[in-house]
Amino acid sequence: MTATTRILLALLVLAAPRLAAQALPQTAAERTGYAATSSTADVGAFLDSLQLAGAPIAVSEMGATALGRPIYLVVVSDPPVTSAAEAAASGKLVVYLQANIHGGEVEGKEAVLMLLRELAAPRRDLLQRLVVLVAPVYNPDGNDAFAPAATSRPSQNGPDPVGRRADGLNLDLNRDYFIAEAPETRASLARVYAAWDPALVMDLHTTDGTRHGYLLTYAPPLDPNSPAGPVSYLRERLLPAVRRTLEDRYREPVFDFGDVDDALEPRSWDTYSPLGWFGVNYVGLRGRMAILAEAYSHADFRSRVQVTHDFVAEVLGYAAAHAEEIRRVVREADRQTAMEGAGAAPRPSLATAYRLGSRGVEPVVLEVVRQGTDSVRGRPRLLPTGEFRTVRIPVNDRFADSASVALPAGYFLPPAAADVAALLRLHGIHVQRLLAPWSDSLETLGSPQLVWGTRQYQGHNQLTVTGAWTRVSRALPAGTYYVSTAQPLGRLVFALLQPEGFGLARWGAFDRLLGAGFGGGPVWMEGGGTAREFPTARAVRAPLVAMRSLP
Ligand SMILES: [Zn+2]
Repeated sequence: MTATTRILLALLVLAAPRLAAQALPQTAAERTGYAATSSTADVGAFLDSLQLAGAPIAVSEMGATALGRPIYLVVVSDPPVTSAAEAAASGKLVVYLQANIHGGEVEGKEAVLMLLRELAAPRRDLLQRLVVLVAPVYNPDGNDAFAPAATSRPSQNGPDPVGRRADGLNLDLNRDYFIAEAPETRASLARVYAAWDPALVMDLHTTDGTRHGYLLTYAPPLDPNSPAGPVSYLRERLLPAVRRTLEDRYREPVFDFGDVDDALEPRSWDTYSPLGWFGVNYVGLRGRMAILAEAYSHADFRSRVQVTHDFVAEVLGYAAAHAEEIRRVVREADRQTAMEGAGAAPRPSLATAYRLGSRGVEPVVLEVVRQGTDSVRGRPRLLPTGEFRTVRIPVNDRFADSASVALPAGYFLPPAAADVAALLRLHGIHVQRLLAPWSDSLETLGSPQLVWGTRQYQGHNQLTVTGAWTRVSRALPAGTYYVSTAQPLGRLVFALLQPEGFGLARWGAFDRLLGAGFGGGPVWMEGGGTAREFPTARAVRAPLVAMRSLP
């Protein structure tokens, strides 16, 4: 060692963050040998200790739950940044880790706390390329509703007791991303997505009982209406690379999320839903990358925390090593989406209904189950055997459209749709208002068939809309809302506003307007509209009239 290197090393040691290593906190899971999981108060105490020890974190609350608990948002950055603009100026990629959206699925929470501790010291290098946002307990009311695991998470191998799935309003937060009725959703739309626009999101879960041979399964966004670039990057680059690392370096088998069509005679491995009500699919529609992670519920709690930790750490490592590439992919998605909305690129046909698609036949490792009898109630039940086998079956890991409609230039909403306009703003969508009347030809859905579901889902009798669009000439009054698809969130605009799809109409966002004049007088277009038109019209082109952007 030369004198110069010795001096350099000494300087490096001096410059290294002064962390009180002995004072770094342990998680509730670590302290109890993985018998227990952290309460929201435990998480708060852990974050306090970490901050006191000198970790590069800023702890804030993105909002509060229905029952008044804080929803922690931790910003990890070095040197510190306090806004998306500062993060962009520093050339770093913003990544958001969300754990515990389902209150009883707790390993993501324990894993991200461990990662926060590692970002303070051994993995501080990641912060040269990344700004990491962490919501360790996205659903505090669900997490803290501790109950015997046999009732709250019957197919989960500990810890016990454990929280429940729903939030304090009894909503499944992972179905709420469009209508955004839960305080947790509203807080994250405003304080994470609008404020920080993360390029990559991870949503951490536990499976619900399916039997397979993987410690963790994962999925990219599944809605084929998402801008293609970010999803392709995940499918073709990031996820295969991380899977290989997990298998080779950690000996942890991971695979695409799914379940067999038939547990006794499996013929295919099928993923879940493509709808944007689910967080990961929602982020895809925004043109960003998102990864669903599902730890295997039958594995013990310690292994589940470990594999979730390793998976997230390796995704962060990949994102740091490819930060510039990822930034280019999402920027290009924005550019492409805005161009097609503007008609400067061909307007795509987008799905309003879906069919499952396959990437081909592959070996899938399954646990063999046999038909047996429930020992308590005596009912027939599938029983695990502890034996594993590999079957070659189609891996149905994607969706295509089974019905589609062209992306319009934009959508008109009646002046009375102020609540819908406000919701679109919460999603970060650019909304304008006509300052003067405007006449043009546009597409309306005349005499639509409206069928409300008989059963409630998330507190709604969901509305199914069908009908034929016709081009008509209309005079639109001043005050009409115009929502252009020529913006980076143009695909999300379609997903939320095309009435036949799974957007806001289905969630009842237009029910009030339908009830008010539907079937009677003009529904929404004062002086020119006919009766029985759905209160959303498709624009053929952007209106050539003065408009004001909503704040
Ligand atoms: Zn879940």
